Amino acid sequence: MVVGGGHAGCEAAHAAARMGVQVALVTFSASDLGVMSCNPAIGGLGKGHLVREIDALDGVMARVADKAGIQFRLLNRRKGPAVQGLRVQADRDLYRSHMAAEFKREPLISIIEGEVVDLAIAGGHIIGVELLDGSVARSNQVVLTSGTFLGGIIHIGKETHAGGRMSGRASVRLAARLKDHCGRIGRLKTGTPPRLAGHSINWKGLEIQEGDEDPEVFSFLHSKPFARQIACAISHTNERTHAIIRANLASSAMYGGNIESVGPRYCPSIEDKVVRFSDKLSHQIFLEPETLSREVVYPNGISTSLPQDVQLEYVRSIAGLEAAEILQPGYAIEYDFIDPRALNSCLALRSIPGLYLAGQINGTTGYEEAAAQGLVAGVNAAARQLGREPIAFSRSSSYIGVMIDDLTTVGVTEPYRMFTSRAEYRLLLRADNADARLTDFGIQHGFVGMKRSESFQLKKEKTKTCRDLLSATKISRNEMAKAGVSLNISDGAMTAYAAISAYPEVAHALKRISSAFLEIEDDILKQVSRDALYDVYAARQQRDITALRQNESIVIPSDLLFDSIAGLSNEIRERLQVSKPGTLAQAGRLEGMTPAAMVSILAAINRLKRSAA
Ligand code: FAD
Repeated sequence: MVVGGGHAGCEAAHAAARMGVQVALVTFSASDLGVMSCNPAIGGLGKGHLVREIDALDGVMARVADKAGIQFRLLNRRKGPAVQGLRVQADRDLYRSHMAAEFKREPLISIIEGEVVDLAIAGGHIIGVELLDGSVARSNQVVLTSGTFLGGIIHIGKETHAGGRMSGRASVRLAARLKDHCGRIGRLKTGTPPRLAGHSINWKGLEIQEGDEDPEVFSFLHSKPFARQIACAISHTNERTHAIIRANLASSAMYGGNIESVGPRYCPSIEDKVVRFSDKLSHQIFLEPETLSREVVYPNGISTSLPQDVQLEYVRSIAGLEAAEILQPGYAIEYDFIDPRALNSCLALRSIPGLYLAGQINGTTGYEEAAAQGLVAGVNAAARQLGREPIAFSRSSSYIGVMIDDLTTVGVTEPYRMFTSRAEYRLLLRADNADARLTDFGIQHGFVGMKRSESFQLKKEKTKTCRDLLSATKISRNEMAKAGVSLNISDGAMTAYAAISAYPEVAHALKRISSAFLEIEDDILKQVSRDALYDVYAARQQRDITALRQNESIVIPSDLLFDSIAGLSNEIRERLQVSKPGTLAQAGRLEGMTPAAMVSILAAINRLKRSAA
């Protein structure tokens, strides 16, 4: 059973169904599927990697985003592939309808409309959930994905009301019950800008931002966008805008003292920007249509919790928005989250067997982070149902593994979002090779469908043929010169494979020097070129990964008493007790961990093993 039809819930239900189990998805309304509470955009730096990994594991987000995408942009295009991030602006109505279509095609999922008010627990194990009408829906595996709805409170200036997002009711009774069931609960916040009527914007004279000319898409199964593509516009705040905001800070929910919880550092509100960067006279705003009809526009960059009349005043101080109409005010929302250190690496709550948590409830922010966790929780709940071993994702092979390890060992002090800088093996964990890293893993565990499996096997064969041909072809300086590439190499000294890593322009000339390359598809050659570029670093990172895996394989027995280990500071001892790391490598990543403390823990593990033997 999956509770919640947001991004985590959709992915969890689908993943479990792909494993072949019957899934009931309980959510407030069947129309929840694929709703984007905030900006209708998927991906970006780091987040785009997660979307590709979800796709490599046959999840739904990438396919739906491609179908609904109305502007595709590859961020960091000038930097290396390892840190590029695809961002897709979606038509929010198309996104919902394509997500709903994915569910219609899946006969193993049934949707139950209702509010979950409590967990049903017997003998310490989950046995289902209690619904508002007092009935119990039974399941021995429950994935809870209640997003921003748990104890949600919406703030617009000094006005507050309960809500999980604008026009969505809060999950109040469940929040109260989870405090008893789940232990450590904290509070976080996030915010969103006012939505503007497209017809009230004066688009003329605004800078236009088009999407990419030759767009990349998310899914390995797609090659181009589906929907008509549109342009966005750019405007800027100005000194008058900032003066209005400054004069009204006391009435902002965030600055007037109404909200004390922590928000996402990397999506600051406009109040935050004006206060924190007081020397900046202007901030950029992207005017992003939410649908192809352009009726509703999302002004990206001015999220706020100021009163509605102040929002209108500052919006109208901005070029192009002088006559703008606000369709929905900006607001901030506070909600409960559960300390993710209470979860194991499969997102199962350690204290209640059978209960899994995924998405914003674990302290993350973003559709992509939620969806990736949903997939992990979904496959693990299904594996448990089927009596199979848990399915864990390693941080050395996926951003998904990095995120889950960060959450469950370090926890969160502010909403967690993904960045490429979080991954120590980012040269290996690229968005372009997500399928090579993960699809076989998904096939092996039974949650990759036939269509993807066949297309992946074919790609593997073509890639091998291309790599073999490149390795068997010796480059000649004269030949390359004739093909328009000047290289300072001795004839016969370099293979085409070695050449493309050092001189990327060689790849474009290969079809002109040998007819054998005419058979190779451009996409395959591009992929092998990227792999070649990273080969040297890959070997180095592979050695680091081997060392990490040795530590990963040292399991910390659950009966090890951290209190009894001499030489640990109180701070480290407390962190160990809260996080309960499952392996030595996880212990090593806890904040404040020292090499000396690691030696003490290893010695204690060995002592315990000897006494048990
Ligand atoms: P949600 O998408 O919130 O879905 C939760 C689901 O659970 C819903 O379908 C709901 O109906 C259901 N549900 C909840 N409780 C119950 C219950 N008791 N019974 C039955 N069903 C229940 N992300 C960013 O990356 N950047 C941002 O700037 C950003 N700003 C945001 C601003 C606002 C105002 C909001 C509300 C969200 C914002 N987000 C932002 C967050 C983004 O919306 C979430 O990260 C994402 O939607 C989380 O997905 P989820 O599946 O965990 O939860």
